[in-house]
Amino acid sequence: MTMARMAVMTGVRKLDIRSYPVPEPEEGQVLIKIEAAAICGSDQHAFNNPIAYQTALGHEFVGKIVKMGRNAGKSILCYDGEVRLGDRIAVYPWLTCGHCKNCLTYGRGTCTVCDTSFFYGGPVSPMGHEEEGWHSSNPDIYPHFKAGYGEYCILFPGTYVWKLPEGMPAPVAALLDPMAVAMRGIELAQTQCGVKEEALNINTNACIVGAGPIGILAGMILKIMGVSSVTMVDGIATKLEKAKELGVADYIVDFTMHPDRDERTRLINEYTGGGPQLVLQCANTVYAFIDALHYVRRLGTVVEIGNAADYGKTVECNPAALICTKHLRVMGMSANQPGTYDKAFRLLKRYRQYHFDKLFTHTCTLDTLKETLGKMRDPDYIKGVCLFEEK
Ligand SMILES: [Zn+2]
Ligand SMILES: [Zn+2]
Repeated sequence: MTMARMAVMTGVRKLDIRSYPVPEPEEGQVLIKIEAAAICGSDQHAFNNPIAYQTALGHEFVGKIVKMGRNAGKSILCYDGEVRLGDRIAVYPWLTCGHCKNCLTYGRGTCTVCDTSFFYGGPVSPMGHEEEGWHSSNPDIYPHFKAGYGEYCILFPGTYVWKLPEGMPAPVAALLDPMAVAMRGIELAQTQCGVKEEALNINTNACIVGAGPIGILAGMILKIMGVSSVTMVDGIATKLEKAKELGVADYIVDFTMHPDRDERTRLINEYTGGGPQLVLQCANTVYAFIDALHYVRRLGTVVEIGNAADYGKTVECNPAALICTKHLRVMGMSANQPGTYDKAFRLLKRYRQYHFDKLFTHTCTLDTLKETLGKMRDPDYIKGVCLFEEK
């Protein structure tokens, strides 16, 4: 029996490297050998907080198909034709049932709505899943390898994947999930806002709150789409500098230099000639949401993307003054879909033209993953990737 290694989170800031037998893919499954797994802020959030049971992590991964179960070419849903042995693929981390009422209503594959979703590389206990059963992220439960921070991963029937074109670096393809999150936020802004003007067009002045990976990727998409300007707000100067260096931010506002919100609003208002039409809130704090409502111009659009890690906190808001009188369109975002991932992946394939991989500030291996997971709050950290060497 071949054994392979995997990272297992066992408690707050505790990560063990364990060996498990490599499973044989069953009917409709494939086994991939992981090449790269990008580190998501949600992994780092999980790493810093208590968990109910030991858990495998890592959902932004890319690997090569090394074994295929019977009929896997038909049961793995690939946007680029049937999968074959040796294909390098990027993976949609959610698996939905396809037949619950929500799947039927919102479409198969729509994440966070299915009653019995499975998520590669993390617990889905908020959705009611228990430690037992194949849904579990507990790696002791067969087939063990169901996450990105391990040498292998089993993909179950119904998983959506994309083939990497020849030469595409694995870390770039591992940006599929965060790129799709940024892409979905932008798609939401593209719909009509109830007035003649669209929120997002070539003359839009956009503002992004939070210069983390999602904020920077959203800025990249907006710049590629050719908006008039992107203003970026954050409290860490090195991140803002990075956003500028990547050509993502035309104007930056460091809130440690301008702690007064009215002052920040005035600066942004001045730069954008009356306030941004679109604000994407990509920071991890509830206060940033209120900031976004202040920054945006009247009849503007705010998309709230970034609050995941701030659960339980509340903030005061005067909806009559901030939302109603300003006639804002305010949207939350967490559900995503394979079609948006496809759009994101097609953009990532243009990596020779746009240097998406510059987002990575840290690389690590399975042995140094724990150290890198702990760097989330470091001023020079934006995004890390765990690399697995070819054997
Ligand atoms: Zn992610
Ligand atoms: Zn479902």
